[in-house]
Amino acid sequence: MTLGYGRSYLAIPGPSVMPDRVLNAMHRPAPNIYGGALHDLVDAMLPRLRYLAGTAGHVAIYIANGHGAWEAANANVFSRGDLALSLVTGQFGLGWADSARRMGVEVQEIDFGRRGPVDPARVSEALAADRSHRIKAVLLSHVDTATSVRNDVAAVRAAIDAAGHPALLMVDCIASLACDRFLMDAWGADVMVSASQKGLMTPPGLGFVWFSDRARERGATADLRSPYWDWTPRAAPEAFYQLFCGTAPTHHLLGLAEALNMIEEEGLEAVWTRHDLLAQAIWAAVDHWGIEGAMSLNIPDPACRARSVTSIRMQSPNATALRDWTEQRAGVTLGIGLGMAPPGDPAWHGFFRIGHMGHVNAHMVMGVLGVIEAGLVALGIPHGPGAIAAATRIIAKA
Ligand SMILES: *Cc1c(COP(=O)(O)O)cnc(C)c1O
Repeated sequence: MTLGYGRSYLAIPGPSVMPDRVLNAMHRPAPNIYGGALHDLVDAMLPRLRYLAGTAGHVAIYIANGHGAWEAANANVFSRGDLALSLVTGQFGLGWADSARRMGVEVQEIDFGRRGPVDPARVSEALAADRSHRIKAVLLSHVDTATSVRNDVAAVRAAIDAAGHPALLMVDCIASLACDRFLMDAWGADVMVSASQKGLMTPPGLGFVWFSDRARERGATADLRSPYWDWTPRAAPEAFYQLFCGTAPTHHLLGLAEALNMIEEEGLEAVWTRHDLLAQAIWAAVDHWGIEGAMSLNIPDPACRARSVTSIRMQSPNATALRDWTEQRAGVTLGIGLGMAPPGDPAWHGFFRIGHMGHVNAHMVMGVLGVIEAGLVALGIPHGPGAIAAATRIIAKA
């Protein structure tokens, strides 16, 4: 017997749920790419994207996923043999470092573990030790989607400045943009990368790089730059086709424009608050399930938790059984653990994640929590009482 028929919920941290409005906006014949409505839509989109990131700087759009956006940022900032400093708080910090390294950049890593944020003091120390200022840029995940940690971007900027170091600050907001508060200019980020399929509620396929004048100047001589990835004509095109270095991603743009309409109608501040409250409901439930020690939130300090994704540790390695149950029996797909297995045990099943980014509301979160609790009961996984009631109180208070 399964109760999984009906509308399913892909509660993984990207791709996220796509709103019907976004899907419907894409459901039309190909538009003319040589003029008319598509050009107007893109002209209007660039300032909307700058607003979303909190910047008066530049933005380049790529036909790419997040990995492509990493590579775009690397290509425009670094030359072969340059040194970067990567601040690792999970799998995605390792991923960006790996991308840069494979392009010919030397990468120094500081690993802050998997249960907490970057310690700015250690960043200052590492930069102060770099007396010849070889480090060209610091790579930081705002939210690392594997651990669900949220890093303090402004504090890392302050740490760079405290060391009197000229390094650029490059930030990955793929899992946090339009979910968690982010203010590129106010927080002093020089480069920011994101993608369409998480908080932006649009199918995977668009990658974005925002950059400051300072980053543009520093990167002007970057020899990793190639024609397709060059951000210069994309951010200041003389002709429309230069925006995408070829055919525009027509339907993704139509979908994204509608997603931006939805974000603007709700208000960016309200979007952040909604994610914050829904995240709190999830944390409250997990805390109650964990009373008997069966599970715990991966990030103990609430101030350092993402508002878009929650990573959960299971005491016994039964997270896969739980995910299978919720998907097959109740139509809710939970996220797998990424890079969290203990060394030597790649088949470890002690970790899962809940994605709550983008088009998510109270009834969806309550549904996910109710289904997880049903799975815990059905599988005989020990858990504390009162989880759903605790989440309910947070929703009610909001
Ligand atoms: C999803 C994600 C990526 C990778 O994006 P892809 O589109 O899968 O290439 C990179 N960084 C973070 C923080 C992410 O959440």
